[in-house]
Amino acid sequence: MFTQRSALRLAQRAAPVRSAAQRRLNSTQSKYPWIVDNEFNRERAAVKHHAASTSGTAVIPCLIGGGLNAYNLWNEHWEHWSHMPPLEERVEYPYQNIRSKNFPWGDGDKLERQCQLPQQGQGHLKSSVIIFPVTMSRSDVLIVGAGPTGLVTALWLVKQGVSIRIIDKAQADASTSRALAIQARTLELYRQLDIAEDVVAKGHKIRATNVWSEGSHRGRIPIGDIGSGLTPYPFIHILSQDQHERLLEDRLNSLGVQVERDLELVGFSENDSFVTARLRKHVDYKSEEEDIEKCEATFIVGCDGAHSAVRRASGIEYAGATYSHIFFVADIEGSGPSINGEAHVTMNQSEFMLLFPYDDNHRARISGAVDDTATGKGVDITFEDVRSEMTRTLKLQIDKVNWFSTYRSHHRVAAAFRKGRAFLVGDAAHIHSPVGGQGMNTGIGDAINLAWKLAAVIKGQVGLALLDSYETERRAFARQLVNTTDSGFNLVISQSYFARILRTWVVPYLAPLLAKIDFARHKVFQRVSQIMINYRHSFLSTGATGDIFGGDRLPWVPVGDVDNFESLKSITWQVHVYGEAKVDLIAWCQSKNIPLHTFCWDEKYRAAGLQSDAAYLIRPDTYIAVAEPSGNSQRLQKYFEHIGFQL
Ligand SMILES: Cc1cc2nc3c(=O)[nH]c(=O)nc-3n(C[C@H](O)[C@H](O)[C@H](O)COP(=O)(O)OP(=O)(O)OC[C@H]3O[C@@H](n4cnc5c(N)ncnc54)[C@H](O)[C@@H]3O)c2cc1C
Repeated sequence: MFTQRSALRLAQRAAPVRSAAQRRLNSTQSKYPWIVDNEFNRERAAVKHHAASTSGTAVIPCLIGGGLNAYNLWNEHWEHWSHMPPLEERVEYPYQNIRSKNFPWGDGDKLERQCQLPQQGQGHLKSSVIIFPVTMSRSDVLIVGAGPTGLVTALWLVKQGVSIRIIDKAQADASTSRALAIQARTLELYRQLDIAEDVVAKGHKIRATNVWSEGSHRGRIPIGDIGSGLTPYPFIHILSQDQHERLLEDRLNSLGVQVERDLELVGFSENDSFVTARLRKHVDYKSEEEDIEKCEATFIVGCDGAHSAVRRASGIEYAGATYSHIFFVADIEGSGPSINGEAHVTMNQSEFMLLFPYDDNHRARISGAVDDTATGKGVDITFEDVRSEMTRTLKLQIDKVNWFSTYRSHHRVAAAFRKGRAFLVGDAAHIHSPVGGQGMNTGIGDAINLAWKLAAVIKGQVGLALLDSYETERRAFARQLVNTTDSGFNLVISQSYFARILRTWVVPYLAPLLAKIDFARHKVFQRVSQIMINYRHSFLSTGATGDIFGGDRLPWVPVGDVDNFESLKSITWQVHVYGEAKVDLIAWCQSKNIPLHTFCWDEKYRAAGLQSDAAYLIRPDTYIAVAEPSGNSQRLQKYFEHIGFQL
């Protein structure tokens, strides 16, 4: 029998098995295409084996492919055939005599091909040829793009038991730093996958921001624990995007899922209950026809960046504009007063630059924007074009440039975040200037918002209408964000007299003073850290108790060693009561199998806006769905009936 222990052992093997298989599939010299049994995956029956009692030719019904399910299934079953070692060791062997090339890749049809079977008793094969695996399996969700938003979508779906495929057209994972800031709200949500502490440990906490103007240091703003009391992560945290993505991907691998690289979505069509996507493999490219694999999924999620193929195939407009400025990023090593483990911002008459440290000693990232009309070089500006201004305004000695890149930034929001079974997440849905470090974090927020809803629909707990709330909740925030970052960026680059005075004289002196006022500091942190995001306007939010509304983020209130965010680590519906839970609520939670967490009343809860004995129904993505002052269960029951959710 297939035991839990063997499942664990096989899951641990999944990564190398997959990569061996993937390498084989990627090989341009691949002589032995995968032979798959169409019936197998559909039925989830026992692995088929075809006796080769005589050597020679046999007719085998098969498909060509190599989907993830197939590998997993093979590994679940291989030990039923004691003479068959795991796939990794056998990846080439069973097929070496099969002359059945040039099948259309994974076209889903049953094919019959003449195959030369190995002789009985030869090599390791003895008497069987195992026929597997299946490509045209239908995964629940096809995730296009394995940047931060794709990886987070994958992690949250897999954690909720959803079967996925995640593909990326790039041949290898990314190796450049790009987005650095990981906001507190992202870290709070990362607790659900137990990755927050790793992200914190690998990154760098910013102690202070320094303001410079025209080469002079004008002020220092301590921001070490700027959000103290508001969140378990009250600081500005820096981790390069490549390290961040690696960490997410490692976590995904540990859950048994690999990113399928070098596989590009070229289009998809939607049917009544699924989508059929066309994927192009690059490395095995022989002819247009052979290069395309078709795959089915119940939903498709476009995490494929600013030039999203999912968005294009869905015909969704990406309205907005492109900034005339050219943005640059440089990872440098050096020394000087601005290489001290703190952040530095310089605002001059004509431009601004931001320096974020990677560590306390010598590595930092400098980003900024250059007026294209002044240089005339477009994205072809080089590091030398900005070096002198960098060294002059930030008093820098640059020893080494590890990476320099330029890009154009846009401010755009997709006209819709969903069309039928297709969804847009992250840069595919919204894009704006990198000022404020919001883009990637917003994409991650999109992913977590969408994942629990998709999981609920896939599990049959609720109808498709719930998915409308994704756009309602996330597009509203994206539009607001694009507008505010746009205004902020325009102020930073504006050449008007007023803006220049503001930049060079008012901000450098006023900001350090304002930072001394708790209220002002907290307001800025709440906005930048994204802990202020709420879904009050959503049809999934209802009720109010004092200052807390349905749709709000639950306030973080540690009391002694009791942390009310501890239970939010589970991706599940749950009820919180601060004070005493009503008897009927206890019974209702039990009958619905919803965890009920009660916290002994403390005045700190009142100070945070919570009301004693009220019931707070919390969604799987940790936002409050219902704030019910009476603490009774009726409103909660009605809520689920209203949204058509079967617990
Ligand atoms: C040079 C540079 C510097 C940046 N600097 C900053 C910064 O300082 N601060 C900041 O906040 N943000 C910065 N950004 C933006 C930030 O990197 C993005 O906001 C973030 O990466 C968005 O994540 P995402 O997962 O939505 O998309 P992406 O990270 O763009 O990932 C999309 C993925 O989809 C894949 N893909 C695309 N099309 C297909 C297809 N058809 N089929 C399969 N796969 C596909 C791509 O290969 C890619 O891996 C920078 C971006 C760049 C390019």
